[in-house]
Amino acid sequence: MQIIGHVSSPYKEKFSIPRQPNLVQHAKGYIEFLPDFSDIDMLCGIEAYSHLWLVFIFHQTAEQGWKAKVRPQRLGGNKKMGVLATRSTFRPNPIGLSCVAFDKVEKLKNGKVRLHIEGLDLVDGTPIVDIKPYVPYADVISQATSAFAAEAPVSKMNVEFAEALTDKLVICEQKYSNFKQFVIQVLAQDPRPVYKQGKADNKMYGVKLVYWNLQFKIEGDKCMVYSIEDI
Ligand code: SAH
Repeated sequence: MQIIGHVSSPYKEKFSIPRQPNLVQHAKGYIEFLPDFSDIDMLCGIEAYSHLWLVFIFHQTAEQGWKAKVRPQRLGGNKKMGVLATRSTFRPNPIGLSCVAFDKVEKLKNGKVRLHIEGLDLVDGTPIVDIKPYVPYADVISQATSAFAAEAPVSKMNVEFAEALTDKLVICEQKYSNFKQFVIQVLAQDPRPVYKQGKADNKMYGVKLVYWNLQFKIEGDKCMVYSIEDI
């Protein structure tokens, strides 16, 4: 198998990435194809689809190997399940699968080809091994059930920004449209480890999103962003 391209993602680190795609619709990124695959003919007709499947490598966790049983965060982190019964990144083959929204295809003057996507849950630099159209008649199974993680996680945090950040947010929005909404959607999910969720703590957390390093604290059911600095 060959890597065909890499993801450019607003998530510059794993911390704060939602657990599945489409939970944060304002996450926008693109796949840039490697020279051997920078042939726009490969994407001919792709605009016919609203969504695409991405098959990728969990490159940031691959070296840690795998175990037969894992503790999914989604189940509180204290219940064990078979790895193949979960979407854990620690798998015998570190292959990820995400359905994302198609935005557009772009060909740069230097010949590079980019496929723009939305709603992704991949970290910056993720290697892509395949892309397939999402075909509703086959892929949507309305009677499908899932006893675990049946519903999307609820976003429980009110996200607020310190008043001093008003001007900075205007600049951020110019460089990355809907940046504020993007941050709200990301932080509303409470990115802290599962055992801390629902609890206040005094720690100042940092997270790298798009071109910025954000610092925030969880205060009750409120997430307060205190600083936004250039990376
Ligand atoms: N939708 C995919 C991913 C689910 S796991 C699937 O079902 O296969 C989601 C987690 O993968 C995110 O919380 C993020 O932290 C992690 N992740 C994203 N890109 C990764 C990468 N390249 N390497 C390792 N982990 C990654």
